[in-house]
Amino acid sequence: MSVLTNVVYLVAASLFIFGLKLLSHPRTARRGNFLAMLGMLLAIIMTLVGQKILDFTFIIVGLVIGAGIGAYAAKTVQMTAMPQMVALFNGFGGAASALVAYAEYFRLPEHPELDITVTLILSVLVGTVTWWGSLVAFMKLQGIMRGAPILLPLHQVWNVLMLIVVVILGFLFAADVSQQSYLLGIVGLATILGFMLVIPIGGADMPVVISLLNSYSGVAAAMTGFVLSNNVLIISGALVGASGLILTNIMCKAMNRSLANVLFGAVGTDGGGGAAGDRKSVTEYSIEDAAMVLESAQSIIIVPGYGLAVAQAQHVLHELASVLMERGATVRYAIHPVAGRMPGHMNVLLAEANVPYDMLYEMDDINEDFKNTDLALVIGANDVINPAARTQKDSPLYGMPILNVDQARSIMIIKRSLSPGFAGVDNELFYDPKTMMVFGDAKKVVTELLRELKG
Ligand code: NAP
Repeated sequence: MSVLTNVVYLVAASLFIFGLKLLSHPRTARRGNFLAMLGMLLAIIMTLVGQKILDFTFIIVGLVIGAGIGAYAAKTVQMTAMPQMVALFNGFGGAASALVAYAEYFRLPEHPELDITVTLILSVLVGTVTWWGSLVAFMKLQGIMRGAPILLPLHQVWNVLMLIVVVILGFLFAADVSQQSYLLGIVGLATILGFMLVIPIGGADMPVVISLLNSYSGVAAAMTGFVLSNNVLIISGALVGASGLILTNIMCKAMNRSLANVLFGAVGTDGGGGAAGDRKSVTEYSIEDAAMVLESAQSIIIVPGYGLAVAQAQHVLHELASVLMERGATVRYAIHPVAGRMPGHMNVLLAEANVPYDMLYEMDDINEDFKNTDLALVIGANDVINPAARTQKDSPLYGMPILNVDQARSIMIIKRSLSPGFAGVDNELFYDPKTMMVFGDAKKVVTELLRELKG
């Protein structure tokens, strides 16, 4: 590899690292994304120019088809379908690594270095697991497959047995690389392992497994980097692997679960039933009455959730908050770490509406203040305020820290019905005597509240 190639790869790797650093704050996230994209562009150009891998006709055809599909998917995907799109993209990353590593098999010398053989096996194994696991995650989230956990008899025992066989096949293949059947055996078992890893996961745990699969796709890419002796692939794969693992850890902490419990616990529902509106009565407020409550509240904490994103009500909500502040109320936003459908979802959404960052409070920084607050205004949030997470041991939410909305002096919840949230469980808070339910699409309700307050 030429000195120029290595220098450009070094610049690309530095851009990835700076990009990641900037991604840690909403204010700088766009710039971070741009820097990382620039790094990737440099790496791609240098690889194509420097390596002369393929005829350019093939490369251009591949680029046009791939970029076309990617751009179309990114433009048309609904905000609500973001998690499954991320799952699919992780899967493609894993599949690409596995395919490249497998293709390299045909270029191996008769007696390859051991490190090349080992990384080739790992790339094929982890890449294949990532692809099939991500596909199952995609199908569960898209409703193609049942979302509830599926646990087979002796599920984990089978997993361990398959892993042992994979290790044996790996040793046999390393001893004699001319036996392609060993590698094919690893691909077959990795396919089953990918399914087995994700089918027992359901409910609110899906984001964690998607983040973990993202990490796997990075590991597979790094392994392929070793097979190809490509430094920038090793670095970028390691960065994805490490950041995916850190994110998995953060999400586990936010839900107060261990990774082992998420992977082997098999809790969660398919998001089906759970609404029990007809069992108990709720206090429903009209727009006029709700506007009067808002007018009289001196301190308000807004709790945004997934429904805010669905309704795209962030702009009008910001307007409502501004009007309330002009009238003398203190308004703050409480952000739960897993509110919405992707990490940082609420931050990104509110940043889009130019909500000042100093109005956003992380859960731990604001939870103690709910008890001194006149009104908790919940917009399209459900699981992240569900007290069952504290009390009901059989609930898929049990153990997840929640926003202390129930401690506020009064609560107003804006949503369309009594339907459950992502985890598919009923929420006692709807039936709390101090809760006012305002039913309707978040954007429509907030727009009408704003009109009422202004008029
Ligand atoms: P949630 O529990 O999913 O509840 C969202 C609520 O929004 C629903 O109950 C729904 O009720 C309401 N809604 C939907 N469309 C609406 C609209 N147009 N207008 C008004 N309301 C609307 O959301 P959350 O409280 O934000 O909790 C997030 C959940 O997603 C957690 O369980 C979390 O584990 C999971 N999750 C998080 C991530 C992440 O990384 N952040 C990723 C994937 C999953 P109606 O149908 O009655 O309106």
